[in-house]
Amino acid sequence: MPSFTDELNTRLAALREQGLFRELRRVDSPPGTRLEIAGQTLLNFSANDYLGLAGHPALREAALRAVDRFGAGSGASRLICGSLAPFHELEAALADFKQTEAALTFATGYAAATGAVCALLGRGDIVILDKLVHACIVDAARLSGATLRVFAHNDLTELADRLQWADAQRTAATADKPQILIVTESIFSMDGDAAPLREIVALKEQYGAWLMVDEAHGTGLYGAHQRGLAEALDVSGRIEIQMGTLGKALGAGGGFICGSRALVDYLVNRARSFIFSTAPVPAAAAAATAAIQLVQTPEGKTRLDNLWRRVAQLTAGRAGTPPGGSIPSAIIPYMIGDEGAAVTAAQRLREQGLFIPAIRYPTVARGQARLRITLSANHTASEVAELLAALALLK
Ligand SMILES: *Cc1c(COP(=O)(O)O)cnc(C)c1O
Repeated sequence: MPSFTDELNTRLAALREQGLFRELRRVDSPPGTRLEIAGQTLLNFSANDYLGLAGHPALREAALRAVDRFGAGSGASRLICGSLAPFHELEAALADFKQTEAALTFATGYAAATGAVCALLGRGDIVILDKLVHACIVDAARLSGATLRVFAHNDLTELADRLQWADAQRTAATADKPQILIVTESIFSMDGDAAPLREIVALKEQYGAWLMVDEAHGTGLYGAHQRGLAEALDVSGRIEIQMGTLGKALGAGGGFICGSRALVDYLVNRARSFIFSTAPVPAAAAAATAAIQLVQTPEGKTRLDNLWRRVAQLTAGRAGTPPGGSIPSAIIPYMIGDEGAAVTAAQRLREQGLFIPAIRYPTVARGQARLRITLSANHTASEVAELLAALALLK
């Protein structure tokens, strides 16, 4: 038998050979449009901080005030003694923002997904996923023990087909009828395209299924009040489980589920990632609350307008592959295909002072490697021009 270390080194060598090796790059500056990495200042087109809030003074000050009042740690899980006031304030702000009866926050979006799906479904139930949903949804579905079915990305015909199959299982069941849950993202994390939420809502109603929508890349960016794509498409009130993260456009960290009071009460009792995990630090909750408030001010709207102006500038320069359809996105993939070629392209951009990591398998399918360009409200027109110039040299 090879030693433990030899075995791991063999596996790592295989990853390197396939262009799939990943490594951490230490950043010595606050998150922003410029990053200091290994003594070099790089223009950052890789963050999910779409509104440029992660380093915003309002969030920093809210976090500092929470540390002053509540300390650095939370002491225990929320149900033991860690249900500090900042979490309750955040959940009230979230429910008000999303216009739902209630909200529950988790340490991460990942924990929100596993907590909710595993609480709601078990063996004998059926979960139907879009082929491109985030890994945390796939993991949640597998962990739940429910029967997993996948439909091709945004393919309503296949979704209807899966629902018809699930409905037949329900009809055939003699005792416990299976619950059917559909999960999709609103804006897809690696392609930036939008799910046809209206049509999905209509289908789930037709078949009496439940719907969970992951608005990780929609919250803060779409709809008249920036609540998310569900608001923009006027279907929020018809989605049972609205999920999201506080770590992307909201610039803080943590995950959430918004929905009915019954849903939240049930998750407090049954979501294992909520129950058996120390509450996040109060500073994170306070920063997220400040972000939700800020998004709803005129500054929030100004930031969003700026973001869409930069997106328009980038797509007019014909860089990347703008997502199809009429819904703009701050995620603009630049498709490359081969994993090794994507790594080389990212390296060349880094040499020119731009930070855009290569996204490869297993984050996307094999042979679908890409540079995932993301824009922020804090990018300037000249920074986007610099990006366009650098991308033109890749060809
Ligand atoms: C980032 C992301 C998550 C996970 O949220 P975290 O708060 O980062 O754990 C879930 N779903 C999607 C689509 C994401 O992009």
